[in-house]
Amino acid sequence: MTTVALIAAVWLIVAWALAVRVGHALRRRSAAVPYAAFHSVPDGTRYLACHNAGVCGHMQTPHAPAGPGLWRCTTDGCGHITKGD
Ligand SMILES: [Zn+2]
Repeated sequence: MTTVALIAAVWLIVAWALAVRVGHALRRRSAAVPYAAFHSVPDGTRYLACHNAGVCGHMQTPHAPAGPGLWRCTTDGCGHITKGD
C-alpha cells in the first residue's frame, strides 16, 4: 500500500509540473506580438542594388523615381541616388 501511495504521489507531482509548464507556454504564446507597418509604394518603384554601404550594404532595396534615369533609395535613413535604365 505504501508503494502505491508513493507512485501516486510522484505522478501527482509530475502532473502538477507539466500543468505549470503548459500554463507558462500558453501565456507566452498569447502575448501581444508587434506587427509590421504597411505603407504604400510610389508608382514606378523598382528594386535596385543600393551601394550606400553604411545603410543598405549593396542589398536590393526599393527605389522611387528621382528624375530621368535616376532612382532614390526608399530605405529609412538612406535616400541614396542610383542610376538606372
Ligand atoms: Zn539605400
